[in-house]
Amino acid sequence: MAISIQYWANYTAEKPKLMRKSDNAVISNHVLKFLFDQETKTIHSVIQASMRNTSYKVTANLGNSYEVSNTSCECPLGKYECHHVASALLYGYKCVSKTDIKCGWLKNTKTSIKKDIKTMEE
Ligand SMILES: [Zn+2]
Repeated sequence: MAISIQYWANYTAEKPKLMRKSDNAVISNHVLKFLFDQETKTIHSVIQASMRNTSYKVTANLGNSYEVSNTSCECPLGKYECHHVASALLYGYKCVSKTDIKCGWLKNTKTSIKKDIKTMEE
């Protein structure tokens, strides 16, 4: 099932910084893991932090009127609104809606400039 862009649009409404940063994060392959539980309409994602060599676990519930509720993120801003949650929402739209399984869209990004980034396995 596709995740509507409306969720991202609502979450980032009037917050150009969130829009820009989340767009950037998706383009830069910062979405390390993404899972959408259709039964509970919950997104579980892992987003790489932009500066540090660390990653944050993100969860977000999708409502019936395109509202996003019960978001959580492990980053210091996660209590409020951070771009990691927005990144997961955007990824869900850009990637899940296209293939429903795997994202082929990230291939075009410039991965060559990436420093050696360790993926963190739990
Ligand atoms: Zn965050």
